[in-house]
This record gives sequence, structure tokens and C-alpha cells, in this order.
Amino acid sequence: MHFSELGLSEEIMRAIADQGYDAPTPIQAAAIPAVMGGRDLLAAAQTGTGKTAAFTLPMLNRLRPYGNTSPSPARHPLRALILTPTRELADQVFANVQSYSKYLPLRCTVAFGGVAMPPQTTALRNGVEILVATPGRLLDHIQQKNVQLNQVEFLVLDEADRMLDMGFIDDIKRLMGMLPAKRQNLLFSATFSPEIKALADQLLDNPQVVEV
Ligand code: AMP
Repeated sequence: MHFSELGLSEEIMRAIADQGYDAPTPIQAAAIPAVMGGRDLLAAAQTGTGKTAAFTLPMLNRLRPYGNTSPSPARHPLRALILTPTRELADQVFANVQSYSKYLPLRCTVAFGGVAMPPQTTALRNGVEILVATPGRLLDHIQQKNVQLNQVEFLVLDEADRMLDMGFIDDIKRLMGMLPAKRQNLLFSATFSPEIKALADQLLDNPQVVEV
């Protein structure tokens, strides 16, 4: 299979070409059509399988038609939220989102704990369509009214099993309660434990299941 068969926009195809990718990895070949079709997704995938592009590329494709270049913060509501368990993963996912979205008029930032709030606050208040965040720091920013989740269309939980292992379940549930009911949800996990299945049952609507 080639990336050109997946129906991704020209801007995204150009960014993929810049990365030097030849063909989609198995998780990408399975996940991208499902997500482009609007389905929720439950994916079992380890780091190194290309899982980041598997959720980011179709997410960008779905966000693209609304893209605008207005500098007004009010016109940059947060539309896509990617939650990760650790700052390292948040940073890595953020770098990927930046690479894949470089030809699109979508703003992205990253927010994680252990560093000062103000630079993150400034970025959030300037308005971003895409946010990569760890759950605790995101709740801090919401409490300080730096960001709102009421226009989020797209939710990704990356390495959800690690998030549960690290005790983020209550934070995740609080965040879920702030999201609009109508949204697309993607859950990535290295394992499908009973706890992950229970979270998936709560979070996902008739998901396509992909295991690689
Ligand atoms: P991930 O599993 O998302 O951490 O990705 C692992 C590595 O694979 C990253 O360095 C990506 O840049 C790279 N990668 C992702 N998709 C592809 C692809 N289709 N072809 C070649 N490399 C890829």
C-alpha cells in the first residue's frame, strides 16, 4: 500500500514526503481509513509501530476543512486534544504533530507538568486548535481558564494503559465530563487489560478495533 491510496490532503502528503516515509506501517494502514471515515478507534500498538502518525495524520485531515488563518484567539477554539501519560511522550507527540501539520493553518501547543505555567498559559490564551497535554497540568490550565474543552471534536488517549498505571483515571474522567458529547475518540494502548476495556466501553462509541 502507498500513502496516496489513503485520501490524505495534498498538504499532509507533502509533509509525509518531507519525512521520507515510503509506505504506511500496518497500524497506519488499518487506522487511517477508519479515522478518516469518522469512526472511534481502539488500537493496540507499541511505541515504534508508527502509532503517532496513525492518529495524527487522519486527525489533521479531518480538522483541515475548518482551518483559518485569523489571528483572533476567539477564532482558534481548541478542536483536538491529545492526552499522554508523560512529559517526554507529550513532547515527542507534539514534535510529530508540528512536522505533519507544517503546511496547514492549524496551531498546536504542548502542556505538561514539572515546568513553569506562564509560557504554556500564553500559548493557550493565544488560541490553538490542537493541544498535546498530560492530564494533571491540563486540569490546572482549565481551572485557571487558560483553555476550554467545550469545542473539542477529537480526543486521543495515547498510551492509555500507562495513564491508568500512573493513576490518572480520575483526572481522565474529570476531563471527559468537560468534553462535548459529540466527538470522535481514539484510544491507543500497548495492552488490552480489563481496565482498558472498561475505559474503552465508557469512552468509545462502536469503535473499530485494530491490533498489530
Ligand atoms: P511511533 O511509533 O509513533 O513512536 O513512531 C516510531 C518512528 O517511526 C518515528 O521515528 C516515526 O517518525 C517513524 N515512522 C512513522 N511512520 C512511518 C512510516 N510510514 N515510514 C517510516 N517511518 C515511520
